[in-house]
Amino acid sequence: MGLHFNAKKCAALHIDGSKRDLVQGTGFQIQGEPVIPLAEGQAYQHLGTPTGFRVRQTPEDTIQEILQDATKIDASLLAPWQKINALNTFLIPHISFTLRGSAVAKVPLNKVDKIIRKLVKKWLFLPQRASHELVYITYRHGGANVPRMGDLCDVAVITHAFCLLTCPDATVRNIAANPLRDATEKQISRALSNQDITNFLSGSFDGEFGRDEHDIASLWSRTRNATCRLGKHIGCRWEWCEERQELGVRVPQIRSDDNTIVTPSARGLLERTLKATIHSLYVETLKHKPDPGKAFDLTSKWDASNHFLAGGGFTRFADWQFIHRARLNCVPLNGAVHHGNRDKRCRKCGYSNESSLPHVLCSCKPHSRAWQLRHNAIQNRLVTAIAPRLGDISVNCTIPGTDSQL
Ligand SMILES: [Zn+2]
Repeated sequence: MGLHFNAKKCAALHIDGSKRDLVQGTGFQIQGEPVIPLAEGQAYQHLGTPTGFRVRQTPEDTIQEILQDATKIDASLLAPWQKINALNTFLIPHISFTLRGSAVAKVPLNKVDKIIRKLVKKWLFLPQRASHELVYITYRHGGANVPRMGDLCDVAVITHAFCLLTCPDATVRNIAANPLRDATEKQISRALSNQDITNFLSGSFDGEFGRDEHDIASLWSRTRNATCRLGKHIGCRWEWCEERQELGVRVPQIRSDDNTIVTPSARGLLERTLKATIHSLYVETLKHKPDPGKAFDLTSKWDASNHFLAGGGFTRFADWQFIHRARLNCVPLNGAVHHGNRDKRCRKCGYSNESSLPHVLCSCKPHSRAWQLRHNAIQNRLVTAIAPRLGDISVNCTIPGTDSQL
């Protein structure tokens, strides 16, 4: 194909499982020039991922860069919704890509998650104790659409494994499938069925699958752990279809008993299906929380209720700073503090319990002028929105041409 390799930028890794020292320092040549042999624990940077044998693969530098960028976004003069957008457009895909290529350790990943969540809550003007779910759910449902790093990692690993095992190219498929058979065989030490392999991948620890074999960490052990973790939340698992002789991933629907089975021919849909199910799980969790549940149940119903999240359209900073707190019932009202024995009375009218936002917004008498102004503002907005060709609009009078008192 006319390709030329730069031998200085290449590296070779030779592993022999039958030897005491697994890594052989064999010298290879490419186009007549020697290639650097990698030793055990030595890494080669491949697309930002340290690659090698028994290498700590967590791309510390890449993670550090991403966190620095997040801090820069935070310090910028962007509007809060633009900060969320910048995070989702530039940083999350970067993290996603990194997770696809490397085995990132849990601790640094949780650290990234914590820092990003803290920033997003700050941009949403939410107190840090507010429900995490709002950060993770989609704009359409009223959230910030920022994925939880652990979920992102599990989805990336499962999707990557599925794509390898169902690759249309038989060579690639076999290179992936053979070590998987070996890993499964090593675990249960007997002849394998396809069912065994899917049980292994799904992270089953029943009977023979539960034996601790001190397996060398590989894509397959990671797939197993990822499916097991995600399976506990959303119930997804690997399946072998005997009839069609093909591999699939079963993803249950959160609000019904239905299941989606992603087959090899629909392999491109797996990532989206898993993410959608994770989103619905967070939506359902938030709906069932006593404090935010009531408002969230309504605001998550219609896209129109959340139109401003993606672009901040028709939204003043004052509105933005109020709305997420109001929806999650985190507005610092006298009655909302559950601990201690403090005065819960309304600071305006003296009503016994200033606990509910509805009291402040709709039934605190000193604000009655504000109710009227709010009513008029909404009414006037509707009047402007109705096209003139639809007829005359009457405001604040009985219905013309009828006897109705309405
Ligand atoms: Zn009041």
